[in-house]
Amino acid sequence: MIRVEVAVAAPLDQPLTYDLEDALLPAPPGTAGDPVGLRVLVPLGGRGVTGYVLAVVAMEDVAYTVRRVTKVLDRSPLFPANMLPFFRWASSYYHYPLGLVIKAALPAGMAPRSARAIALVPGRDQELRGFFGAEPPPWVGELLTSRRLPAAASRKLLGAKATRPQIEALVEQGVLQLQDIVEADAVREKIETLFTLAPGLRAGLEHHGTETGPDDAGWSQVLPGDLKRSERQTLAALTALMAASGAAKVPARELFGRYGGARKATIALVAKGLIEQQTCRVYRTPFGEPLPPTPRPEALTPGQQQVLAQIEPALAARSYRTFLLHGITGCGKTEVYLRAAETTLALGRDVLVLVPEIALATQIEAQFLARFGETVVLLHSGLTGAERFDQWHLALSGRAKVVIGARSALFAPLADPGLIVVDEEHDSGFKQDDAFRYNGRDLAVLRGRCHDAVVLLGSATPSVTSYYHAGSGKYTLLQMKERVGDRSLPAVTVVDLSRKGRGGEKGLFRRELRQALLDNLAAGQQSLLLLNRRGFAPVLLCQDCGAPVECLHCHVALTLHRAQGRLVCHYCGYSLDQRVICSHCRSTGAMVPVGFGTERVEEEARLLLPAARIARLDSDTAADRKVFLKLLRAMHDREIDVLVGTQMIAKGHHFPHVTLVGVVWADGGLNMPDFRAAEKTFQLITQVTGRAGRGESPGRVIIQTMRPDHYSIRLAQQHQYEELYRQELELRRNPAFPPFVRLVAFHIQGEKEEEVRQGAQRLAGFCRDEKKRLQAGVEILGPAPAPLERINRNYRWQLLLKAADLDQLHMLCRQVREHRPELVAASCRLLIDVDPENM
Ligand code: ADP
Ligand code: ZN
Repeated sequence: MIRVEVAVAAPLDQPLTYDLEDALLPAPPGTAGDPVGLRVLVPLGGRGVTGYVLAVVAMEDVAYTVRRVTKVLDRSPLFPANMLPFFRWASSYYHYPLGLVIKAALPAGMAPRSARAIALVPGRDQELRGFFGAEPPPWVGELLTSRRLPAAASRKLLGAKATRPQIEALVEQGVLQLQDIVEADAVREKIETLFTLAPGLRAGLEHHGTETGPDDAGWSQVLPGDLKRSERQTLAALTALMAASGAAKVPARELFGRYGGARKATIALVAKGLIEQQTCRVYRTPFGEPLPPTPRPEALTPGQQQVLAQIEPALAARSYRTFLLHGITGCGKTEVYLRAAETTLALGRDVLVLVPEIALATQIEAQFLARFGETVVLLHSGLTGAERFDQWHLALSGRAKVVIGARSALFAPLADPGLIVVDEEHDSGFKQDDAFRYNGRDLAVLRGRCHDAVVLLGSATPSVTSYYHAGSGKYTLLQMKERVGDRSLPAVTVVDLSRKGRGGEKGLFRRELRQALLDNLAAGQQSLLLLNRRGFAPVLLCQDCGAPVECLHCHVALTLHRAQGRLVCHYCGYSLDQRVICSHCRSTGAMVPVGFGTERVEEEARLLLPAARIARLDSDTAADRKVFLKLLRAMHDREIDVLVGTQMIAKGHHFPHVTLVGVVWADGGLNMPDFRAAEKTFQLITQVTGRAGRGESPGRVIIQTMRPDHYSIRLAQQHQYEELYRQELELRRNPAFPPFVRLVAFHIQGEKEEEVRQGAQRLAGFCRDEKKRLQAGVEILGPAPAPLERINRNYRWQLLLKAADLDQLHMLCRQVREHRPELVAASCRLLIDVDPENM
């Protein structure tokens, strides 16, 4: 028996102590000694919950009873022990329970629970039948055949008013029994059985010099005489399959698929020692048809040489360091990542590459796969659960050395990351906004620190915060100011939408953009059209009363998606048929679409360019990874003339034949209640501008905007990042915003409006009192209803804290967590958002 400290996957602030019987520990040598990282099932209150072993502690007498671990759920640890300091730090920084941090770090589907199952007591079949008479419900039939119902079915029956008393009565009579079982993981490893000729047989065949098959003279000298016909046939099939595939082993399903008798014959042949059977784990892979990779360039550009000359010594030093690589679009940052990765692998260390969304993973994945082959794995939401599970295990087992993925891949169980790349580090896609609110970029820097790794943050438009850190010496700034191959940045024209269009200028495209689209098509070049809003129209108004059609669960308008014929809520996913009746005035008259989204841009582009091949890329069309890959492929193969899309088309892609980029409406983001609005607008325009003119021909960009004089648009037009940075800093000094202060937001959410409001007010009062008591330099703003006050049936309020000293904010957060029960009703959620981005 040993005593272990366990982080349970439940909202508890402290780890718990349990005793663990030796017999439960997995047998394989090496792992038996060190249980750290094992996943266990432990009792907590009346339930069984998953937990993770953090440490072995001394068996001392304690004042309370130490309960026992119910079950060890895996054969080996699920994360390297050296990741623990990182998990602990992430938990305390984001004020999120350690067990839930670890759970978030593991692939989904690994969540067994203890459950109750209804079982039939042996020999009581008659009584069960008798209880229900002539017409028993279906679950009785299932019980009679399978003896025990699955946990989910049992839960349902025990929860239903109609069936619960019946089951209780049957348990009372000893006909049924309730059993405690452990529900299995939703995703499990895949094991395959393989067959090959036994070594003795193979040696004999080689000796007699035969290749053709069991009817050959050579075979008869080696094979025993008493083989059945089906056994001979199976041997023939196995040899043929081995020869055809060139592999030494043949999967069972292929061999058995040959003919009916193969399975039985194979078993007999294994028994006779002529065939060998092996099992091995199969890793399901997500790699479909890859994008064409570009060959490894012979010579690096001067810019690349210069930055690598700084990165490589840092890698060799094996100590923590963060670089901010500011390189204009098309300067060849990917090649820098690839070379740095080569160096890291040569040092025997692992590489982690993070991208803000899967659209970019594809691009980078193609390059890394071409360079590093089988050592590369992918981790992001575009994979199936099974693929992700297996990719993750490849990293855990050390067979994969390079992990590429979105945000959550930063938790990949690599034992020794020596380089962590964060591409497009400024992107808000790194911020996770559900229960565990973390920023993937910031955690990547932290993970680098915990592993003595080099962190490389890359962007053409660094976040103001990162650039500030580079200025203060926290990060090292690296710059690349030239595009590869002497290409120039494209010329940018700004078109003022506020000036009235001259005669005939209807619709979404002004004259300049219309003409450019026509010219570009005539020249056989590709164009991109950006509008950062999906759907056809963001609002649908009743023709009679003017009321918008709103979501049933959220206080927001539904977006018309004409291609699907539906109205969709972009916050909770609720959807309705587009032929709605106005819930306000009951009018059945027509609904009027107001505003525009990518679907409408696509429609107008088709009207303007009837002969063009037009496609759309947004999260509606790219939901399926295969469809998405096909689209990118078609773009590379010049099978698309105009690609319409949201920010998904703006980032990272290298389309050499795009020479025109049109931004349909640039200032949508400027109207957001967000202190980063100008920064984000500049970034989006610069990114999409960077997609033009990356090949032989120069590019041009047309930006349509209502606010042509806004500094973010003007500076993006002039490619002036430093000036944007300077102006932003000035604006954020007073009133103070990051990087001059740190922020923490509290979100209070719940279905009862009154409880949410009161909770928010009590919380604010508490924070103000604590601030006085601690004499902290903290500014408290709010409480106030969130900008989107009701989402998914939940009312939402928030409170914002600002301070120059982050430690003071952390102290307040700890106080709030401790006093939570007195402050916020149990029916409400309290979320702590450290460094919030989307408020
Ligand atoms: P970005 O900095 O925008 O990410 P990329 O990494 O996509 O730029 O590089 C732009 C293009 O330049 C790619 O096609 C890439 O293959 C090419 N490239 C990068 N480095 C070199 C080099 N040293 N020599 C020739 N071509 C290069
Ligand atoms: Zn909704």
